Amino acid sequence: FEELVTFQHQMQAVSHIAASVAHELRNPLSVIKGFLQLSHLTSDFQKYYNTIISELNRMNVIIEDFLSVSRKKNDRKWQSPAQLLQSLAELMRAECSLHSVEFQLDIEETFAICHVNESMFKQVMLNLLRNSIEAYEEQSTGRRLEIRSREVGEQVVIELIDNGKGMPDTVLSQLGKPFFTTKEKGTGVGIPLCKKIIEDHGGTFDIQSEANVGTRIEMILPLLV
Ligand code: ADP
Ligand code: MG
Repeated sequence: FEELVTFQHQMQAVSHIAASVAHELRNPLSVIKGFLQLSHLTSDFQKYYNTIISELNRMNVIIEDFLSVSRKKNDRKWQSPAQLLQSLAELMRAECSLHSVEFQLDIEETFAICHVNESMFKQVMLNLLRNSIEAYEEQSTGRRLEIRSREVGEQVVIELIDNGKGMPDTVLSQLGKPFFTTKEKGTGVGIPLCKKIIEDHGGTFDIQSEANVGTRIEMILPLLV
């Protein structure tokens, strides 16, 4: 029963955004449907092929950014934040090396534990990692990404710091609005989802950023000490 309550609680937190994502998936779907019908009528499939493929790719990005959360089992476990981060670090390190990003981990071991849904937390970290990697675009050397965590009072403070292109105030002030994106192929789903998931865990999610300097994400989760 307890498991069911937790599950419902977590689903409630993301259900609003899930509804928006479903809505967002309908756009490319109707484009694909329309173009397939057109190509059927005109027997000119070649002409519509590229649009269909690019709309399918767009759907795939939306699903990657969002839906992989809900297909996994949704249970929270008591665990050490250090272990949680260590277990994700290998994946992140690999992703960083693929993109020539120097990856640094500075994780404090603690006795305290946090109550976290691992697959959702993973989704948060992967979304943030992806954003950082996308923020390095023109900068080909000196790319750095650092993850830090430390215990402060009865909380764990997790920071993710990149030296990518950062954000001007005009972007920062819009951040967190569902579907706000500055990228040609962005979804604008990542940040709102991260914020929802962290807040649903009783935590806080903050972003500081400066154009041409970098971005720092700070997540604070409650601990059982
Ligand atoms: P998307 O990545 O699909 O655009 P997000 O919600 O993940 O959507 O991010 C929204 C916007 O916030 C991005 O389009 C980008 O402008 C900005 N942003 C997010 N993270 C970073 C970052 N680490 N560095 C620079 N800009 C960022
Ligand atoms: Mg993103």
